[in-house]
Amino acid sequence: MERNDGGSGRRAFEPLDAAGRERLAAHAARLVPGLEDVAGVALTWVDTSGITRTKTVPVARLEHAAAWGVGMSPVFDAFLLDDSIVSGQYAGGPVGDLRLHPDLDRLVRMAALPGWAWAPANRYTQEGHVHPLDTRAALAREVERLADLGWSVRAAFEIEWALSDDEGDGFTPACNGPAYGMTRLTELSQYLRDLLNALAETGVSVDQLHPEYAPGQYELSVAAEDPVGAADTAVLVRETIRAVSFDHGMVASFSPKVLADSVGNGGHVHLSLWREDPAEGPVNAMSGGHEMFGLTGEGEAFTAGILARLPALLAVGAPAVASYLRLVPSHWAGVYGCWGLENREAAIRLVTGALGDRARAANIEVKCFDEAANPYLALAALLAAGRAGLAAKAVLPEPMAADPASLSDAERADLGIERLPDSLADAVAAFEADEALAEALGPEIVDTVAAVRRGEIELFADATPEEITESTRWRH
Ligand code: GLU
Ligand code: MG
Repeated sequence: MERNDGGSGRRAFEPLDAAGRERLAAHAARLVPGLEDVAGVALTWVDTSGITRTKTVPVARLEHAAAWGVGMSPVFDAFLLDDSIVSGQYAGGPVGDLRLHPDLDRLVRMAALPGWAWAPANRYTQEGHVHPLDTRAALAREVERLADLGWSVRAAFEIEWALSDDEGDGFTPACNGPAYGMTRLTELSQYLRDLLNALAETGVSVDQLHPEYAPGQYELSVAAEDPVGAADTAVLVRETIRAVSFDHGMVASFSPKVLADSVGNGGHVHLSLWREDPAEGPVNAMSGGHEMFGLTGEGEAFTAGILARLPALLAVGAPAVASYLRLVPSHWAGVYGCWGLENREAAIRLVTGALGDRARAANIEVKCFDEAANPYLALAALLAAGRAGLAAKAVLPEPMAADPASLSDAERADLGIERLPDSLADAVAAFEADEALAEALGPEIVDTVAAVRRGEIELFADATPEEITESTRWRH
């Protein structure tokens, strides 16, 4: 990946030296004249609890921020979703500082926040090294490891949100029409129009937008891109949705569970694996092969590596206590550890696309993830799991062609289909035991993830589902 390089080819996880800082400053200086109508730039990063945090600089300060970063306490890695702080081995104290550097290649005007531009931040130590808890860099490193093996990944996050027009903190659906109903489009057509326009102006390539199942719920999907770009886009799209919703007097919830008794918000992740063919160019390993449904052996191995690790992956992909209120059978959230062709109750849904378009479109969809996940960390862990599958030449079990919940316990046991963890505690235990993920993410991230998850478990130890839902609803 070659971002934030001002044309130097420097990679986001390499240390900053004097020449690198100079190039970044020069890059910022070239951008500033085009930012006349912009007052400030919001630098964002996502913490361990999946909350997007920010520091901003006036445009006049962008050049300095690009070269030297903006000071920031490292304590946020240890924040819980209610802004309380746990202490892990590597994060959590009041001492220390790190530097946030805007990724200038991704800097964009936010059409939904006039006068503001946005750039995802890379986090460095004061010595110019990538901060060990920087999840964007962890993802960039994982991309590089796959590239060293000749692979690249295209990814996209689906964004679901529920809209409320409640005056207080409660949730009152902002529309009344039925699931997927045209009525819901008509009820909020000006809002949805403004949203599409804002995203287009911000340079986001939207694939589709539709009313979803739950009360007040909508969903938007975007084009696949490189993994770091996909995680950035997930942040940008959500902040755009949030801003347009506020503008229209509504509030958007991205929480895994907005109402305790309803379908939740998923954060499904689409992934395809590509290799560069000298003659044909990029070739999609999820299609055109001789394995089941046209998978190639490598596409299968990558998928199998993820499938086998889903219990551990939930600690980063379904990271909130509320996530487990969403993860219930027959809610299209994929709570059984199985895969299937176009099966919306399997944790991994193979999407082949229409005949004729498969070489481009075929991908896997990880359905059990939600939007409390830090998208950088979620993708880094998925890529690491896929890479472990490639290394082991892992094979997939038989695909599942029905809702696993419709089978008896004995039938599921015969097929080797297990329920994924039904609590955050079980997911964290699986995560801590997984060697491939530990090696890929490093001890700092693994320890901090576990400490933050345990903190949230403790926070909600005596809470009812309603209390958990209410406390989580407006945090992500
Ligand atoms: N809202 C569902 C979930 O919690 C997903 C619905 C769909 O398949 O798009 O994941
Ligand atoms: Mg959906």
